[in-house]
Amino acid sequence: MSDLTDLYQEVILDHNRRPRNWGPLTDATRVAKGHNPLCGDRLTLYVKVEGGTLTGISFEGSGCAISKASASLMTDAVKGQSLTDALSLFDRVHDMLTTPIAEPVNTDEVGKMAVLSGVREFPARVKCASLAWHTLKSAILDTHQTAKTE
Ligand code: ZN
Repeated sequence: MSDLTDLYQEVILDHNRRPRNWGPLTDATRVAKGHNPLCGDRLTLYVKVEGGTLTGISFEGSGCAISKASASLMTDAVKGQSLTDALSLFDRVHDMLTTPIAEPVNTDEVGKMAVLSGVREFPARVKCASLAWHTLKSAILDTHQTAKTE
């Protein structure tokens, strides 16, 4: 198990150092903002929606390693997905993050996002990991409101 945890940490550190899909998306059709007051993480998410599909997505912001890595992993995972599939992944990741640490998570259902399951050991960090996902949901539902983690 500790080997797995190490691997997870490596992936998170890598995405924090070299975030994928970083920077504004010039042809974005929607922009959503997220804020996690508990940690101070801020995120701006740019998405391009064409015919019900997320054809483009990028982000920028400032925050801790977990929040940045989570946003990087999230953008990679949902790029090219339909809005319905992206929302369904949101639900599965949200379920994973809110599953008590003593219970196993079904990592098959969340793909690469399994690396975020380790944050359940640190309840305050769960919001860092879920910020990007809440912001994605705001963008998909086009709420025009800053996504808050509480
Ligand atoms: Zn944070």
